[in-house]
Amino acid sequence: PPAVVATNLTKVYGHGDAEVHALRGVNVTFATGAFTAIMGPSGSGKSTLMHCLAGLDTATSGTVHIGDVELTGLTDRQLTLLRRERIGFVFQAFNLLPTLTAEQNIRLPLDISARQADQVLLDRVIDTVGLRDRLAHRPTELSGGQQQRVAMARALISKPQVIFADEPTGNLDSRSGAEILSFLRTSVRELGQTIVMVTHDPVAAAYADRVVFLRDGELITEIAAPTPQSVL
Ligand code: ADP
Ligand code: ADP
Repeated sequence: PPAVVATNLTKVYGHGDAEVHALRGVNVTFATGAFTAIMGPSGSGKSTLMHCLAGLDTATSGTVHIGDVELTGLTDRQLTLLRRERIGFVFQAFNLLPTLTAEQNIRLPLDISARQADQVLLDRVIDTVGLRDRLAHRPTELSGGQQQRVAMARALISKPQVIFADEPTGNLDSRSGAEILSFLRTSVRELGQTIVMVTHDPVAAAYADRVVFLRDGELITEIAAPTPQSVL
């Protein structure tokens, strides 16, 4: 099966007069190994869609499949396990643990699930994101960009089947952003991973194989083989 499939996905926040229809029947398929960018104006439902796809939020109606597993049929415990085993998150609200060093934060997903680190991958990830000389620092001793790199390294290290990234280069200068995106693209090709990335940045979106556009909670169009010009 495809890596991720959303069928007739709707999400309504609030009730009555305060009702907000954040998603209005979204149908979208993310093929295994594909790198897809989600673009659209602020408030168009990008974050909501990604949270529902990743099992961090529950849709009002419709279904989400991660591989052959349908999310709405899962208990909270099953959902937590599925996230842990199959999904990597690179979110702006880094979710780094303040008491742990950068290296401990990066290794956390492995430690939680009692898995051994792939030392070659670990070294490659740490060097590519440029954290070699920051490994012993705690998050408060790192810049926003460095924290984002830690979050990126942490997401890659457990080799998840699917990576959800929300503005992954938002806090990085353009050169670091480009390095990280090209690493992400290479790494996922080698490992056959699937990436779903929300971004405002046409340059970042051009690293994807495909861009889907949301407007007012609906998927309005998509383009293959994007360039920075074609997604503007
Ligand atoms: P985007 O990521 O494209 O900026 P969002 O998914 O954050 O869009 O938001 C889509 C719509 O849902 C917006 O109108 C937003 O105000 C609304 N929304 C998002 N989260 C909530 C929430 N927790 N409660 C109420 N409304 C929300
Ligand atoms: P638990 O506390 O039982 O591990 P959680 O739902 O808190 O369950 O987290 C499960 C996994 O999902 C964790 O690996 C965590 O990193 C990830 N996760 C949960 N919520 C978020 C979030 N808002 N942003 C990023 N990752 C999250």
